[in-house]
Amino acid sequence: MLLLPCPHCGLRDEPEFSFGGEPAIRPVPASTVDDATWADYVYLRQNEKGAHREIWCHSGGCGQWFVLTRDTVTHAVIAP
Ligand SMILES: [Zn+2]
Repeated sequence: MLLLPCPHCGLRDEPEFSFGGEPAIRPVPASTVDDATWADYVYLRQNEKGAHREIWCHSGGCGQWFVLTRDTVTHAVIAP
């Protein structure tokens, strides 16, 4: 089972967490961004093979949101 490091609670089983997606830079100001750029920001993901930055929430625990780097091939957490 995948263990993820909550910065508040420590290592916990993956089912305690909710995946929040990839960290992305929000186009600003949003009111001036064209629809295609906004759709890319909202819907398109890199989903790269290998080291990948991800947002997680310890939704079954303390509720802390955090970013970690995980290898999408081995599932190893590289950096919390
Ligand atoms: Zn936690």
